[in-house]
Amino acid sequence: MAKKATHEQTRIHNTQLVFSTIYEREEISRAEIARITRLTRPTVSDVVAELMDEGLIGEVGHAPSTGGKRAILLRVNVNSRCLIGLDLAREDFRGALIDLRGDIQHRVNLPLEGRDGNAALELVYTLVDTLRAAAHHPLLGIGIGAPGLVDAVNGVIHQAVNLNWRDVHLRDLLQARYSLPVYMANDCQVAALGEYTFGQNNAQQRQQAKDLVVIHAGKGVGAGIVLGGQLFHGNPLGAGEIGHVAVVENGERCRCGNAGCLETVANSRAIIRQAQAMAYRIPQSLLNQLAPNPETLTFEMQCQAFDAGDEAARQVIRDVGGYIGKAAANLVGVLGGCRILIAGRLLHFGQFLLDAIYEEMRNHSLAALVNVSEVDFVSLGSDIVMLGAAALLMHDELGLFPFSR
Ligand SMILES: [Zn+2]
Repeated sequence: MAKKATHEQTRIHNTQLVFSTIYEREEISRAEIARITRLTRPTVSDVVAELMDEGLIGEVGHAPSTGGKRAILLRVNVNSRCLIGLDLAREDFRGALIDLRGDIQHRVNLPLEGRDGNAALELVYTLVDTLRAAAHHPLLGIGIGAPGLVDAVNGVIHQAVNLNWRDVHLRDLLQARYSLPVYMANDCQVAALGEYTFGQNNAQQRQQAKDLVVIHAGKGVGAGIVLGGQLFHGNPLGAGEIGHVAVVENGERCRCGNAGCLETVANSRAIIRQAQAMAYRIPQSLLNQLAPNPETLTFEMQCQAFDAGDEAARQVIRDVGGYIGKAAANLVGVLGGCRILIAGRLLHFGQFLLDAIYEEMRNHSLAALVNVSEVDFVSLGSDIVMLGAAALLMHDELGLFPFSR
């Protein structure tokens, strides 16, 4: 019995390996697959036949002649499966139909309009119903980026305060309703996998580095960590929850009950609050002129003042970058050198923000580690969580990139 299981595992591993190799190389011959994977030619041929039967890959013509018989090239059929990616971590619920290369074919946004609890759950059903009705290709399943603490292994959202969800077994509910595979993780975590899988120059980037950290600062602050090409969840959950690491001594009280958490100084609300405080403090600043009553100061005004070179607005971003840099230094201390990418509205502050983060990393961790680390912005825009959810589905269902492990 044990032997049979091992044989089955080998078969699955080989299938994942061959599919991933074709996915990564875009167009490739059977011989080249055998060379890269070190599988035998007959094994590769068997697996390729199986993948072609399933429609996942197809033959696309011949490689240029190298003297002998011209090899037939294989390619992933991007529309052979359709991925449903959901982003449940915004003011509205968003979902999309996405092809195997991360191109969005159809999108649906449903405003929450104050719904929570069961009403919010009903809205998830409406979202999936609408997407299913619009799908023209076989569905691979549903991937979800969800807010709060998410147990990816058991498919449970432990706590999403804004939705008033506690221990919602979302995966089981959706699987029972739609008879499709369902995978989920925290929104920041799937964002990291989305960037790793579908980001700009991703195949090239993946060859250079199989590790990646995405720090997402929006309503909340969190990080997603990809290690060896795989999303790191924590055991059983909570990897990358840097939003509740203290970065300010005797700082503001956080919604988690502690004080001085990164979230209290780096989420969107906190940035506005700091800009307001700055406007009070420096009456001659542009921040103050834009909002003579600082209570009315918005995130957009902070952006506007920053763009105009207002020193007060720049100081706000220097501070925010510093706090994020402290948290990033801790990450580097644990992970070693790594690629750290920033996602969310902070993109607006460009290189100035990155410099502030990098400088504070230098102050709080070994120079040798910071020197081999990179801080930049993600290449995917506001669809990153939906794309990440789709990437999660593809990774877990098709076993993408097993060679990275
Ligand atoms: Zn906290």
